[in-house]
Amino acid sequence: MLLIYPGSFDPVTTGHIDIARRASKFADGIIVAVLENPNKQTLFTAAERVALLKEAFAEDTKIKVESSDGLLAEFAKQKKADAIVRGLRTSEDFERENKYAAGNAALSSVETIFLPATPALTYVSSSIICEAAVHIYKNNLDDSFIAQLVPPSARAALRDKFSE
Ligand code: ADP
Repeated sequence: MLLIYPGSFDPVTTGHIDIARRASKFADGIIVAVLENPNKQTLFTAAERVALLKEAFAEDTKIKVESSDGLLAEFAKQKKADAIVRGLRTSEDFERENKYAAGNAALSSVETIFLPATPALTYVSSSIICEAAVHIYKNNLDDSFIAQLVPPSARAALRDKFSE
């Protein structure tokens, strides 16, 4: 079974890594797909996000990283994926994801599998990490909060981005 795990990954977090690794236990392969959305402002370019993910998954032989600037449903079809996988943290995630799942099923008959967030990681999001990182690195504060929530490559990239 081949799964596509799509997202912005701006940047990759321990929450993302957790979902991909748990999914890789029952799949033969996972393609982590960095979606390039020109209407969405991101902190890191798609190439940077791909590089950070590749470093994070360097030891995971079943997990590959790619980027896509097209429709997810098309990408999934092109890759002959069996399903899309998404992580759910909250009921808001579910409301939004359920609509996308229905849209992707209608567009190209692709199924979506939801994995619940690991309870201790439900608060982890790229946006919360970026907000904290601006403050921490601009003021040269202890960054152990960031170190717990992103892999070392993303921690260094955030430090470079925000240090003055
Ligand atoms: P997008 O920008 O596409 O909304 P993200 O890049 O933030 O998505 O996340 C990609 C996927 O990972 C989504 O399915 C999201 O719900 C899931 N995800 C993000 N953070 C976590 C977490 N802490 N635990 C579980 N799933 C998560």
